[in-house]
Amino acid sequence: MTTIRRGDTAIEVITADITTLEVDAVVNAANQQLKGGGGVDGAIHRAAGKARLQEACRTIGGCPTGEARITEGFDLPARSIVHAVGPRWKDGTKGEDDLLAGAYRHSFTLAAEHGVRSIAFPAISTGIYGFPKERAATIAVLQCLAAADSGKFERIVLCCFSSEDAEIHASALTREATS
Ligand code: ADP
Repeated sequence: MTTIRRGDTAIEVITADITTLEVDAVVNAANQQLKGGGGVDGAIHRAAGKARLQEACRTIGGCPTGEARITEGFDLPARSIVHAVGPRWKDGTKGEDDLLAGAYRHSFTLAAEHGVRSIAFPAISTGIYGFPKERAATIAVLQCLAAADSGKFERIVLCCFSSEDAEIHASALTREATS
């Protein structure tokens, strides 16, 4: 685990299953339909309780790429789920970087509006959506540093699913925090 402190905020990189974390909100790498798919999305839907989460998502209707929506956490230890829609990677010239940054930024804004003080993110878009990992990690940590500077969060967790991903995020975090 790597932790840096920025003002009153701790930013952590850990390797874990995000559905187990005791934080105010976990972020889901959702699709535009908020339907529940594979990867972390499927894991969150299963752990939160499929029927109730699907109904909450159906009521919201959907979410454009680069934005986020919030639901209750249902059976998760987390009180809330922020459903962030990251972009599918095409070739890097289709606005992917801005859309990914937007997914993180909207997640933080929405979370802060709901009184969330601790929040955990998966590596949005880097699985099925194919975003290059180092590039996505840099975007993620820059948004985390900006959110830490807002003073609205006590704890921001970048929750990786492999130690390789954790190393990529930890080195991006250390580099960007000191640059
Ligand atoms: P996307 O469609 O946005 O690419 P994925 O779910 O395919 O989303 O992958 C996003 C990241 O989430 C990947 O790094 C993947 O390894 C990771 N992941 C998958 N399951 C979990 C989980 N239970 N907890 C944390 N991260 C997970």
